[in-house]
Amino acid sequence: MNQINEIKELQARLKSLKTDGKSIGFVPTMGALHEGHLKLVEECKLANDICVVSIFVNPLQFDNADDLEKYPRDLVSDAAMLEKVGVDVLFAPTVSEMYPKPAVVNILFGEMATLLEGKYRNGHFEGVGVVVSKLLHIVSPDKAYFGLKDLQQYMLIKRMCDDLSFPLEIIGVDIVREESGLARSSRNRRLSKEGLEIASNISKGLGIAKEMLDKKSPISEIKQKLTNFYNGVEGLDTEYVEVVDGEDLTSLDDYPKSESIAICVAAYVENVRLIDNLFSQDLKN
Ligand code: AMP
Repeated sequence: MNQINEIKELQARLKSLKTDGKSIGFVPTMGALHEGHLKLVEECKLANDICVVSIFVNPLQFDNADDLEKYPRDLVSDAAMLEKVGVDVLFAPTVSEMYPKPAVVNILFGEMATLLEGKYRNGHFEGVGVVVSKLLHIVSPDKAYFGLKDLQQYMLIKRMCDDLSFPLEIIGVDIVREESGLARSSRNRRLSKEGLEIASNISKGLGIAKEMLDKKSPISEIKQKLTNFYNGVEGLDTEYVEVVDGEDLTSLDDYPKSESIAICVAAYVENVRLIDNLFSQDLKN
């Protein structure tokens, strides 16, 4: 595996691979890698000749200095993990390499970025938009892989790439979970054993909601049941629980006309902010 920290060096390396006709797959991450990231890598490796992974904790997408500072970083063990699974190139730039000058360009996504995460994380998606467009320009991959754990992020990036005709395909990858059902996340490292147990109730709640969705229970009942369930879990503080249209993420009081629906949750456990969702794309079946 080549580990490269500079944009120019990465581009020179990729240029020679591309002239050899190799297809490039790209997995952007913020590191502190886990099985969720490795699933993206696995899919990337299956469908492309070359797999490039980036590790960059992007300051622009954090609205909270404490959250940015506490974000887990472990480049040495991340690199070992990526080498082991056969990644070809790891791109791990510094902040000054990525932003030698503060970016004056911004990516505004409009309405969809004001919902769910956007309501609670000021400027988050704008920061994601800048870093993802920059990384996609630098790497210029044929395919880029994003987890459905960050459903809103996936949808906004897909939309950005469509709207601006980025010449690549965005692939969404299903959520990878712990045995307890807890969605894997770099932030889980900050939880105690007890915290991990409390956090596993986030996906338990979604499991109950799934059963109700399958029975076509009214949306209002699903919301109420889920809210009551989470309120009953000591140590779990939900920030939002929303049932939304799976195409535009607008809040629903009834089943949508579209085929897809999502139930999205953000919650704090031991001061760690966690998100999860249930995304159902075949409601009519
Ligand atoms: P992050 O390092 O948290 O920015 O995540 C990098 C990529 O991995 C994003 O596209 C995430 O959606 C994806 N990802 C993170 N956790 C998971 C998971 N548990 N399952 C699937 N994808 C994930």
